[in-house]
Amino acid sequence: DTPLAEVDPAVAAAIGDELRRQRGTLEMIASENFAPVSVMAAQGSVLTNKYAEGYPGRRYYGGCEHVDVVEALAIDRVKELFGAQAANVQPHSGAQANAAVMAALLEPGDTILGLDLAHGGHLTHGMRINFSGRLYNVVAYHVRQEDNLVDMDEVARLAREHRPKMIIAGWSAYPRHLDFAAFRRIADEVGAYLMVDMAHFAGLVAAGLHPSPVPHAHVVTTTTHKTLGGPRGGVILSTEDLAKKINSAVFPGQQGGPLEHVIAAKAVSFKIAASEWFRDRQRRTLEGARVLADRLLVADVAEAGVRVLTGGTDVHLVLVDLRESELDGRQAEDRLHEAGITVNRNAVPFDPRPPMVTSGLRIGTPALATRGFARPEFEEVSDVIAQVLRPGADLAALRERVGALAAKHPLYPELT
Ligand code: PLP
Repeated sequence: DTPLAEVDPAVAAAIGDELRRQRGTLEMIASENFAPVSVMAAQGSVLTNKYAEGYPGRRYYGGCEHVDVVEALAIDRVKELFGAQAANVQPHSGAQANAAVMAALLEPGDTILGLDLAHGGHLTHGMRINFSGRLYNVVAYHVRQEDNLVDMDEVARLAREHRPKMIIAGWSAYPRHLDFAAFRRIADEVGAYLMVDMAHFAGLVAAGLHPSPVPHAHVVTTTTHKTLGGPRGGVILSTEDLAKKINSAVFPGQQGGPLEHVIAAKAVSFKIAASEWFRDRQRRTLEGARVLADRLLVADVAEAGVRVLTGGTDVHLVLVDLRESELDGRQAEDRLHEAGITVNRNAVPFDPRPPMVTSGLRIGTPALATRGFARPEFEEVSDVIAQVLRPGADLAALRERVGALAAKHPLYPELT
């Protein structure tokens, strides 16, 4: 019962500094969000003390009656939220959710077909030194050079040629909807499982503002901390017939004791995700991304060599192409950082620069929408970004405009 600041002043100070950083800057990393205080309260609860290997009603430890309530709530709520037949809420992360699904449905050496990392896919979709690339035979599909959209003809051709056991649809950096029905037709034709990784856009799906992959996929995985706005973690949704295999791949296959404090926080975030407040937040998230794309598409920004990949967005992020700009991805990220805006540099498809430099930026709106931003604030921040990316920008003056926006929507006012 000694306060953290006394037990460990160094850690307490770093947490305080991070709170000040989050409050004073504008968070536009597309995979980040601000968990509500209620979610953090559940995550910081006594449930962290409990071992609960197994599943509700079937545990290998005594004293699980209350964590059973929590985990059953999380399962029921996430099934209801997405209309899924079965759910596993135990994966510690999105990567572990994907690893468990592959362990459940594939044998080492089986072929998987996923979106190339350099074209917007995720590490776990078959990157060479990730478990997915080491354990499985990876074939990658791509976006088309002419319009940067996923090439479904290539997906079909590669599927027929390589007969994958699993096709993975989903992305970490792609600004448009995928055609889940078309993916399923191709999967059915070659006898593959379709796994959709909706980690990025799950919040939009929950709000009914993005097509749902659930009716089309055998399995849907997600993180809970991106657009969904919950604690860091993973979830697996599946059809009933695959649930047993998936459950045993998560535990005992991949994990030991579940993080019941995180599962409690997931349960709270699923309840919030069913609310009208959440839907409004996702609407503002989408509106913000569209405003940003529009403001970056104006002629004088284009003159500085700044382009918007695919000419816009359907989701919570915008991909900026800097191949014709005087800035590379790292320089642009640094300049935005100096102006108080946090984004990440990102390879564009067919990027001539190495991954540590890149020729692009990925800019997302979920965290600012959670903070309360609506159209006027998104217009202002978009104008600031457009100016930062132009030659000769006055970064100190732009930093002041960012500070004013941050002050207008205080973050976590109840925390000290
Ligand atoms: N899947 C996708 C599409 C992602 O973008 C990410 C995270 O960036 C993950 C999975 C992995 O999630 P985690 O970082 O929780 O392992």
